[in-house]
Amino acid sequence: MSFADLTTIHVGGPVGRLVEATTSQELVDAVRSADAAGTPVLVIGGGSNLLVGDDGFDGTVVRVATSGLRVEGTRMHVDAGVEWDLVVRTALDHGLAGIEALSGIPGSTGGTPVQNVGAYGASTSDWLESVTVLDRESGEVEVWDNARCGFGSHRSSAFKYTDRYVVVDVTFALRRSAESAPVRYAALAERLGVRIGESVSAREVRDAVIALRTDRGMVWDEAEHDSWSVGSFFLNPIVSSVPPEALGSPQFTDPKGIKLSAAWLIEHAGFSRGYGERVGTGRATLSTRHVLAVTNRGGASAADVTALASHVRAGVQEKYGITLTPECRLVNCTLD
Ligand SMILES: Cc1cc2nc3c(=O)[nH]c(=O)nc-3n(C[C@H](O)[C@H](O)[C@H](O)COP(=O)(O)OP(=O)(O)OC[C@H]3O[C@@H](n4cnc5c(N)ncnc54)[C@H](O)[C@@H]3O)c2cc1C
Repeated sequence: MSFADLTTIHVGGPVGRLVEATTSQELVDAVRSADAAGTPVLVIGGGSNLLVGDDGFDGTVVRVATSGLRVEGTRMHVDAGVEWDLVVRTALDHGLAGIEALSGIPGSTGGTPVQNVGAYGASTSDWLESVTVLDRESGEVEVWDNARCGFGSHRSSAFKYTDRYVVVDVTFALRRSAESAPVRYAALAERLGVRIGESVSAREVRDAVIALRTDRGMVWDEAEHDSWSVGSFFLNPIVSSVPPEALGSPQFTDPKGIKLSAAWLIEHAGFSRGYGERVGTGRATLSTRHVLAVTNRGGASAADVTALASHVRAGVQEKYGITLTPECRLVNCTLD
């Protein structure tokens, strides 16, 4: 078994020891016993935000395969292993609105608080009520409310950039309504023919989001190499002042500064869709539909992916003096 089998980008070397946890107790026990034995642990959900090097990971890989999903009134209690899009579909089937703009994002529910998954103006943190976590330092299982999770606007949380916590389950508090949450994203509003701040049916929002995502190769599809990726490879950078060369980039206000569009910077640094055929082996290229996704065209290694990502990052750095930060988790591999 290799990480190429466990990740959406289909790269990465051998898996040390694989444990599949099908109940929350198995998940907690598997991590606790590996910790007690002093073995390195890597928790993996859908493998859609993970890039593992060609040497793999020599430790215990705990794959979260839990499946409990309970709807109680307007609350959804979801085990970490449940496919995220199943949660969105179930919410709509129960007449619950809020998370419809997060339709079509691959991966597990346990992965959503890790990077405060977001899209089309919505974020996990808008609707997450609490998370059950295993704290690997104390060995205790605790319930954290939303405020404690340290969610930030920049795809961040207390669970990102640390292996200390394992997400066991998540509770979402939604709204009983056939109407969507207010539409907050320009391209989505345009697709729906509404103004920002207006609502339409939640199902219409889901359909429009799936259509937009499909256009960009952002719906996971085994047959579609543009989706053999980790999603957006780089975060939108936050700067204190905008370099003159980057003044044309879309700009968003952020508590930490001015957020620029990584896609705009990449494109205007000379990297167009599909770029990469002449870089290294050419087996990793930018998506042919979206410059922010680094994709495996078939047979790419992790080294191919990091070589292209490093090359693009260097080009952006040279043009604007801005260093892009990877959004995904890198394990046993780095960018130059
Ligand atoms: C085609 C495509 C489109 C995407 N679009 C978006 C998008 O629109 N918005 C967005 O935000 N992201 C997007 N992503 C990225 C990805 O889908 C999300 O980050 C997703 O939530 C990752 O979940 P996962 O289960 O696949 O995590 P994995 O890839 O398995 O793991 C990612 C990280 O989370 C940790 N982790 C996973 N599960 C747990 C757990 N239970 N407890 C503790 N840590 C855990 C892992 O250790 C690792 O560090 C996209 C990815 C792809 C391939």
